[in-house]
Amino acid sequence: MAAEDLTSTAMDHKIAEQPALANGKTNGHTNGTTALPGLDASKLTITRADPTARAVPDQATACSGLETICTDHMITATWKHSTGWSAPELKPYGPLSLMPTASVLHYATECFEGLKAYRGHDGSLRLFRPNLNAKRMLMSSLRISLPGFDPTQVEKLILALMAVDGPKWLPRSRPGSYLYLRPAVIGTQPQLGVQTTKEALLFITASFMPLMDSPQGGLKLHTNPEDMIRAWVGGFGYAKVGANYGPSLLATNEARARGFGQILWLYGPEGYCTEAGASNFFVLWRTKEEEGGKLQLVTAPLDDKLILDGVTRRSVVELARERLAGEVEVVERKYTIDEVVEADREGRLVESFAAGTAYFICPVSQIRHRDHDIHIPMGKGESGQYTARIKGWMTDIMYGNEQHPWGVVVDEQQ
Ligand SMILES: *Cc1c(COP(=O)(O)O)cnc(C)c1O
Repeated sequence: MAAEDLTSTAMDHKIAEQPALANGKTNGHTNGTTALPGLDASKLTITRADPTARAVPDQATACSGLETICTDHMITATWKHSTGWSAPELKPYGPLSLMPTASVLHYATECFEGLKAYRGHDGSLRLFRPNLNAKRMLMSSLRISLPGFDPTQVEKLILALMAVDGPKWLPRSRPGSYLYLRPAVIGTQPQLGVQTTKEALLFITASFMPLMDSPQGGLKLHTNPEDMIRAWVGGFGYAKVGANYGPSLLATNEARARGFGQILWLYGPEGYCTEAGASNFFVLWRTKEEEGGKLQLVTAPLDDKLILDGVTRRSVVELARERLAGEVEVVERKYTIDEVVEADREGRLVESFAAGTAYFICPVSQIRHRDHDIHIPMGKGESGQYTARIKGWMTDIMYGNEQHPWGVVVDEQQ
């Protein structure tokens, strides 16, 4: 393996070693000579909670406390290097048991996903492109030397949890609402050596999450302090690993204290725009006269592995390319904050939004960079028209107003 691309080569090897991805047959890893059991959703065991023990709160009550309110059940599956994956369990939601020496508590051997289940206006319960979350969790897991698994099994487990908890926790009487699903993998081996964990736990919870996609007056972003970056080329900003988030909170808190919602993370001496908080970031501008003066939707590229490959980002790019063809050009390229400032100064800045599962499509109204304020038009005061159209298309797919292959219907147990 070439020394200059050790990480990507090692990742390619690990992904090639996942038999399920290579040939779709098994999903176990081999331990020397014997094939060990892979993650297998068909082996799911079910232990039900008392359905009358907890009432379902309304959204506002559920999000008013200091604790995330989860549904009745969770799914867990354990992995050991010596024995492979255990049969997954669906069981009552509750605390995990870990030794204080567990790998995750010391070396951040943790990765996670975030996706939502949507109660459609047609009564059906849907996930939005869950296969992409499952695949991304595999990539994140391998990046921090946690075990591999067949991502289609994770998708099936997510569906299984929603099949059981969906009818009660996201009732048909609440169309247009959602629950937030949080799959995660952690290293659990109780040994303090800095080494690849030989034991791991995969778990999936479902919870309430506050509505964040339409803050009054739009989302206000503050660029990061000059002495802090979120991710770097050669790092792991492209993986959804816990290690990316804790250290970013210092800057976020500082921005909040100044009345801003999130950090706009810039990169390098050039000040490339990368992400807004834990969301991808989009700008819609008109190119200069000499470049044709056309509408362009711009977002940071994936190829330098600086940013997270968001499912929302990808869907925006794909839908805009398909449905705004001829009207708006969609461009994934490096662009700097100075280009945004210049577009603003020349009156070419049209709209901007953050895109991610948590914030969904959230219009940005202001960016503060150093001593400079960029004010972004927001149409009727809520959202620019392109932001609103893109958000509308996605909402229609999520809530079943448009039947689309991205909306995966949960087969609920009534
Ligand atoms: C999760 C996340 C996103 C958004 O990804 P989605 O798949 O759209 O939810 C963007 N950036 C970062 C850093 C993230 O952690």
